[in-house]
Amino acid sequence: MRAELIAVGTELLLGQIVNTNASFLAQRLAALGIDSVNQQVVGDNAARLRAAIDLAASRAELVVLIGGLGPTADDLSKQVLADYLGVALAVDEPALAKLTAYAEQWQRPMTPNNRVQAMYPAGATVLPNAVGLAVGAISRAAGKQYVLLPGPPKEFEPMVVTQLVPRLAHALAVHEVMASRVLRFFGIGESQLVTDLQDLIDGQTNPTLATYIKDYEVTLRLTAKAPTEAAAMALIAPIEAQVMARVGQYFYGTGDDNDLPQTVVAALAAHHCQLTAAESLTAGALQASLGSVAGVSEWFKGGFVTYANATKASMLGLDLATIDRDGAVSEATAKAMAQGALTQVGADLAVSLTGVAGPGPNDGQVAGTVWIGLAQRGQAPVASVHHFPGDRQAVRGRAVKAGLFTVLQALNAMTDE
Ligand code: ATP
Ligand code: MG
Repeated sequence: MRAELIAVGTELLLGQIVNTNASFLAQRLAALGIDSVNQQVVGDNAARLRAAIDLAASRAELVVLIGGLGPTADDLSKQVLADYLGVALAVDEPALAKLTAYAEQWQRPMTPNNRVQAMYPAGATVLPNAVGLAVGAISRAAGKQYVLLPGPPKEFEPMVVTQLVPRLAHALAVHEVMASRVLRFFGIGESQLVTDLQDLIDGQTNPTLATYIKDYEVTLRLTAKAPTEAAAMALIAPIEAQVMARVGQYFYGTGDDNDLPQTVVAALAAHHCQLTAAESLTAGALQASLGSVAGVSEWFKGGFVTYANATKASMLGLDLATIDRDGAVSEATAKAMAQGALTQVGADLAVSLTGVAGPGPNDGQVAGTVWIGLAQRGQAPVASVHHFPGDRQAVRGRAVKAGLFTVLQALNAMTDE
């Protein structure tokens, strides 16, 4: 079954509101295995709406109109659809009773246009509105289904979930599901990842592979269609194994919600490791990101924000001579910061960040230069240099992620010992 969604509303065309309803519904349809072939957005105009319905019906079996079920003159969807199907509007008595009760309760006059909200194209199945007053509907004509849904998301979403999806699922003789695996990577750019996986991306139709970037990370979504979720996962598994064989060193976790701070905290817990941090250019942002994870307090007792050299010396016990000799942004300083933090807190693992956030150079180093130090109990500290692109906030954001990734790699390496 192919679906086409038509979002109705001039405010959508003007960019005043975002078409979140289409996104919400498209995801639910995909989960049912229904292909979304095209989407349209059309203003509150009867002639253009009719043309949109006609176009959609020419290339899809399921045509869904979103919005325009209200009582005002610009709400035209059900009138235009009824007209297109050549049927009259009928009144849904339960919905009309609800409207009347509502008008009485709030002492509002019942105007004729209010009645429109209780109407539906004759012959359609009415979809009750649990939250609002306008009913939805499913009309069937010439082997196609035409659906009317209300625009306000707080009415739209429950109607999709409780009314439309169960009916579609029931009606679909062959039930196909779409399942996804989301793989998250750090330290590799999207173009590099796509290049490394080019033949897999080009060659695959089931599963499909799609990448996107967010917050300096790359995410790869593998999506497969099959009769059951288990069967879809079985299609994904061998491709996922190939992906991991090629770019696994940048992989840190799976799932849409599973971010880097969460992954780090889970790894700290798995290894019973206490972490601390000393931050210069990021001024505590790495530690703040850990704070977003519930349960972190068991594995992170505290750390340091050491911007000035004097603070690095007083809080972390750094030898100012080290900084004078090598500079604040240097391997020696990064190592000493991490070691100092480890010792002061009595943690098992310490990460340090020192660098030039920009916009200009500092201390003879170009903006984007960041040293990340790592100290582990019983081992000599290490440090690595990074060169991050972007403006001041991007450099700081990337530095935080790189610091977290460094910690994660150290924790993962412990498993191998
Ligand atoms: P109402 O009875 O409130 O008029 P309606 O079914 O007539 O509802 P619209 O008038 O088209 O729906 O839209 C009402 C409101 O719902 C819009 O102002 C907007 O806030 C929201 N809305 C409409 N369409 C969408 C959409 N596609 N995505 C997200 N929000 C939407
Ligand atoms: Mg309206």
